[in-house]
Amino acid sequence: MSFVAPLLEWYAANARILPWRSCPSPYRTWVSEVMLQQTQVDTVLAYFNKWMARFPDLETLASADETAVLSLWEGLGYYSRARNLLQAARLMMRDMQGQIPSTTSTLVTLPGVGPYTAAAIASIAFGEDVAAVDGNIRRVFSRYFDIQEPARSPEGEKRIRALAQAHLPLGRAGAYNQALMDLGAMICTPRMPVCDQCPIRLNCQARKLGIQEDRPVKLPRQKPPHLTVTAAVIRRNGRVLLAQRPPHGLLGGLWEFPGGTQEEQDRDLESCLQREIMEELGVKVRVGQPLGKYKHAYTHFKITLFAFFCELSCGEKPQPLASEALAWAKIDELSAYPMGKVDRQIALRLTKEGADGHLSN
Ligand code: SF4
Repeated sequence: MSFVAPLLEWYAANARILPWRSCPSPYRTWVSEVMLQQTQVDTVLAYFNKWMARFPDLETLASADETAVLSLWEGLGYYSRARNLLQAARLMMRDMQGQIPSTTSTLVTLPGVGPYTAAAIASIAFGEDVAAVDGNIRRVFSRYFDIQEPARSPEGEKRIRALAQAHLPLGRAGAYNQALMDLGAMICTPRMPVCDQCPIRLNCQARKLGIQEDRPVKLPRQKPPHLTVTAAVIRRNGRVLLAQRPPHGLLGGLWEFPGGTQEEQDRDLESCLQREIMEELGVKVRVGQPLGKYKHAYTHFKITLFAFFCELSCGEKPQPLASEALAWAKIDELSAYPMGKVDRQIALRLTKEGADGHLSN
C-alpha cells in the first residue's frame, strides 16, 4: 500500500495550526515560505505576525522603505531575504498587475525565490501538481525508502525529487507537501523519530532495519573557518559613527560599527583596526579601551569580534570608501538603525554603558 493515503489522513487530523495556514492567501504563503528558509517555525511565528500587521498586502509592502523592512526583519538573519521580498513586491506591482505568479516557472524568476520556495508557493497557494522538497521531506524519504546516497548529493537530490513527484496525488499537492513537512517536523524528527506514532511506519525501510538515525546519509562535514574581526566605536561629540554595508552580500544594507577581519600582516588587533579604518573610511584612529569580545556563527564561518572605542585624529573626516553611507548617531538613536546580531549587541552595551559617562567625549 502506498504511504500517501495514511499520510493525508494523518495530516487532516494533525496539521499544525500556523498563522499562514489560517486565512491563507498567496501573499501570506509567499512571505511565510521566504521567512521559513533556513529558519525554524517557532522563530518565524512572531516575525510573521509582526510583518502582517505592518505590511498586510503586496501593495503596502511595495511602497515601504527598505529601512522599515530591514528593521522589522532584525534578528531573523539572512537579510537578503527581506530585501528580496521588497524588491519582488515592487516588481510584481510594476510588471505583474500586483499579482503573485501562480506557476513554479514564473515564481522562480522573482528575487529570493528558488526552486523549493517556488514549488511550495505554487502547490500550496495555487494547487500546482509539483513536489516541494525541503529538509523535512529529504529526511522522511531517505528513511522511508532507505536511500543510501547522501540526501544533499546531486544523486540523492535527484532520487528524492523523483520519488516525491512520482507519489504526488494529483490535485492534492498542497496537502501532500505540507503533510510531509509536518510529518518531518513532528514525528520523523532528526533525532529520535516517534516511529510508534508514524502514519507511514508499516512500510518504512529504515524502521524495519532499525537504522532511522543513520538516514539521511550526510555529506562529510567541513569545519567552518574561524575569523578574528575588529570593530571601532568611533566617538565624536557624544555620537558614534555607523557605516551602512553595501546592498548585496552578507548583512547587505544593515548598519555596523566599521572594522574588519584580521589579516596575516596585522601585528595585533590594534593594527588590524587601524588598517581597516584607513581602508574603509580613509582616516587614522587612535585605538582606546576595549568594548567587549563577541562570538557569532554564520552559515559558512564563525567569527570572534573585538570592539574598541576609537578616537579620530584632529580634523579627520571619514569617507564612505567601502560602504553605502555613514551616519553619526546619538546613543539613543541606535535602535533606529537596522543591524546584525553582533553590532546590535555592541549598540545595546553602549546604550547601557553610555549612561555612566563612558561616551562623554
Ligand atoms: S517510521 Fe519512523 S523513520 Fe519511518 S518515516 Fe515514520 S517516523 Fe520516520
